[in-house]
Amino acid sequence: MDIGREFNLLKKALLISGYEICLVKTVRNPRPYTLILARGTKGYLAPDDFKIYIDRNLGLNDRVITLIHELLHELHPIWGERRVESEAQRIFRHLNVSQLGFLQFFVLTPRDTRNFMVPQPVAV
Ligand SMILES: [Zn+2]
Repeated sequence: MDIGREFNLLKKALLISGYEICLVKTVRNPRPYTLILARGTKGYLAPDDFKIYIDRNLGLNDRVITLIHELLHELHPIWGERRVESEAQRIFRHLNVSQLGFLQFFVLTPRDTRNFMVPQPVAV
């Protein structure tokens, strides 16, 4: 699989399909009757609601992998769980800095943002 091509598909799925990403305290299925595609307890895609739920207590990298995983379900509905997870891991390992930054942006918490704000010396 070509990572550049696959990344562009993920990006399109994020920007065009209109999925809203919800960082939640506890990942649980609020509507058991809808089609839910879950990545263990880390996240799930709720196609009926156009929402992707991700556990906000995960580390930033794991949130990015979960996002990729859920988007791959959307892009490749026939793929089984194991294939989706191994491709998500593989894509994550091959992301360049700007691709990683793009995906991180969607799963940042206020706490991440605070951690990024390292005091900088001010030139006078
Ligand atoms: Zn899954």
